[in-house]
Amino acid sequence: MEIKANNPNLKTWVDIPENSDFPIQNLPFGIFYTSEKSKRVGVRIGDYVLDLFELHKKGLLNQLPLSGADLNNSFLNDIMKQGKIGMRNLRNRISDLLNVENDELQLLKADIGSILIAVDSVKMSMPINIGDYTDFYSSKEHATNVGMMFRDPANALLPNWLWIPVGYHGRASSVILSGVDIHRPKGQIKPDPQADPIFAPCRNLDFELETAFITFDGKPLGQSISTHEAEDFIFGMVLFNDWSARDIQTWEYVPLGPFLAKNFASSMSAWIVTLDALQPYKVDSPIQKPEVLEYLKFEGKMSYDIQLEVAIQPETVEETVVCRSNFKYMYWNMSQQLAHHTVNGCNIRNGDLMGSGTISGSTPDSYGSMLELAWKGTKPLKMNDGSERKFIQDNDTVIMRGYSTKDGIRIGFGEVKTKVLPVI
Ligand code: CA
Repeated sequence: MEIKANNPNLKTWVDIPENSDFPIQNLPFGIFYTSEKSKRVGVRIGDYVLDLFELHKKGLLNQLPLSGADLNNSFLNDIMKQGKIGMRNLRNRISDLLNVENDELQLLKADIGSILIAVDSVKMSMPINIGDYTDFYSSKEHATNVGMMFRDPANALLPNWLWIPVGYHGRASSVILSGVDIHRPKGQIKPDPQADPIFAPCRNLDFELETAFITFDGKPLGQSISTHEAEDFIFGMVLFNDWSARDIQTWEYVPLGPFLAKNFASSMSAWIVTLDALQPYKVDSPIQKPEVLEYLKFEGKMSYDIQLEVAIQPETVEETVVCRSNFKYMYWNMSQQLAHHTVNGCNIRNGDLMGSGTISGSTPDSYGSMLELAWKGTKPLKMNDGSERKFIQDNDTVIMRGYSTKDGIRIGFGEVKTKVLPVI
């Protein structure tokens, strides 16, 4: 089905800065508030936020099945109950209102300041009341690199990896919004392999460059979502930094997998870019060999061309970009991840969050974690200020950015930005 709001020829009457992540073809959703306005649903356009509750009060969303309470709301979960088509209709209507050829909203000049608000004067809030958080492990390059460092270089990729989109159940309570600082975690580490473990601040704090997708309500317990249906159950995507304590991880993860090395924080970007808006950026996936089992087969293009970068900003000096990668490198796509997640009858719910897994490319500058970029501390990265990094230091800020671009249209995610404060 053609999505009206994606038309590359659309023009808006709102001023859009050059190279903005947020042209009229994007229209991502978030939750914002100001000193006068309670938390509510907003849509980003250029350097402005459109207040959907105000639009509703003015009668401009009357043809849609939305209540004021759906929009004057601390989370997007309630409007997401409408599912794929309902959210598509809402985005199409917003696109109409912002279109240069439509004057319904433009005519409200006297009120426009309370409907279209400069992004500098709003605060963003966690947009989703996240039910469950699952993290996949779907980059072949990342899994191979980590396998080489942590296990056996000759058998870096475990035999199941090429058959199963491997994942684990993470923790939703510690998913935080971009801009929220974290403290360096502490825990059991074993710096001397011959000695007993000690309790100490993490010494090898790392980021993981990921994206994540957010689901609509799925099917009842016991039923599965096929690869062909999967995208109907995905609302949109965010940038995602899955913070990792590598020294805690090395000691604790055998035999069960990630626990305290991962659950102290995961940061997400504030604007949810709809999967609808990303449709023009679909590309072929990497070839999968061996051929996957029937329930993991898919048709057409199911990967997305999203350029990604990570920068480290030490306190008081300029940032250094340390990684450039792309979401299209992922071996397992989101439709396969969701099909696998539900194939045993596991139910997904409105507002579940699914991390992609670290997104590493094939070249050393495209690796999506410090563990790989500095190769377990053996190849420290040079910062622009002359300092070096093996892992993330106190008072460093890690910034991830991402966007898709084609035919002069750029659909971006903004950024996810987190400062690391010293241990408490
Ligand atoms: Ca991860």
